[in-house]
Amino acid sequence: MTALSATDARSSTRTLRLQLSRGGKGDVVTAQLGGSVSDGGNVGRKNVNSESVTSVTSESGDEGGELKNEGVERAFPPGLLNLGNTCYFNSVLQVLYHLKSFRDALSEWNPPEDADPYRVALALSLKRLFVQMADVERRNVSQSIPPNHFLSVLREQNSDFTGYDQEDAHEFLRFLLDKVSDAFRASRPSSNPHQAYQQVSKRPRKSSEENPFQKLFEGGGATYTRCFECDTVKRREESFLDVSLPVQSGCSLSWALSQQVQRETLTDKYDCELCLTKTEAERWWQLNTIPPVVTLHLKLFTYDRNIQGKVAASVRCPQSICFSRWCSNGSGESMYQLDAVIVHEGSTMTSGHYYAYVNENGWYCFDDSDVSVIDEASLRRKLFTPVKPKKTAYLLFYRKTDLESE
Ligand SMILES: [Zn+2]
Repeated sequence: MTALSATDARSSTRTLRLQLSRGGKGDVVTAQLGGSVSDGGNVGRKNVNSESVTSVTSESGDEGGELKNEGVERAFPPGLLNLGNTCYFNSVLQVLYHLKSFRDALSEWNPPEDADPYRVALALSLKRLFVQMADVERRNVSQSIPPNHFLSVLREQNSDFTGYDQEDAHEFLRFLLDKVSDAFRASRPSSNPHQAYQQVSKRPRKSSEENPFQKLFEGGGATYTRCFECDTVKRREESFLDVSLPVQSGCSLSWALSQQVQRETLTDKYDCELCLTKTEAERWWQLNTIPPVVTLHLKLFTYDRNIQGKVAASVRCPQSICFSRWCSNGSGESMYQLDAVIVHEGSTMTSGHYYAYVNENGWYCFDDSDVSVIDEASLRRKLFTPVKPKKTAYLLFYRKTDLESE
């Protein structure tokens, strides 16, 4: 999520290759932050980034190499219009759009002609939306995009998202990644689209090696169970797309990760396959392989006698982290940077508001159609100190530091 790629003039709309023009390795930018104007249109209030671009090196093939754009005002990245409590997906889509590895993988993907249209529809709609967003960036205009097409496909494919209620951004992220991964695997038509969806949800996850979407987010962990009778440790491998962590007000991310891997004595008796005894046992979980993008889901929402609540938790999250402490086999030595945060503001999961902070050579706040910049110190003050506990980080995205420079 660092430098955006330069415009690829050879791209065509036929292949829906994504095009981006903002930024590049050769950019020299002087920042004079703070300006904001209204575009007066019907796309909602938009800010314009008053960074003054003093020199832009374009890699665009048809523009003849280096391009000097003296004094050109650079527009903020596009916002997404709220179509009625759609902030839960707007925030997630902004994070995925600004994750270059994801965007590039989607850009390069084209379904085979005989692919089941139902299986690939949501991924194609996402690709179409990303092309629109990239086009707005390429034209350097201040504009928000209404994600109407994406919303209608989403509602066709999952009845949980048909109403106008607030939905859970975490659930949506999992659903979307499953659908995009499945679209990548889709190679033959299915006679029954509804049957195809059933297959999506029940299919055991294949190796992520050949699937760039899974490869980006999928890590491996293992659950260990130790029988107190015979002392045997049973290990069960499992993959994950995100890790859900318990939280307490004022706790640190390290504390939450340590809680997650803590050993617990099972409350029920354990049926040991080895010593054939029903006995006591302890269980714990550990990370084995760390994906390039680690998604951490902070368990903010609680259920007490079917009443929803929210832990008023401001979790202290570091800007960079190494996960080796929570790994079983000495792996996970790489450093990870906090790259995006999805915030929930409100007191229950089914109410309130979501927005995203994304690190894109500096932090941006994507709040539906409003896009603004925020410095890191203010971001940390807002999110990671218990001043306003109702505005809490909900999903954290840590990216391997060398991911996009490889
Ligand atoms: Zn045993």
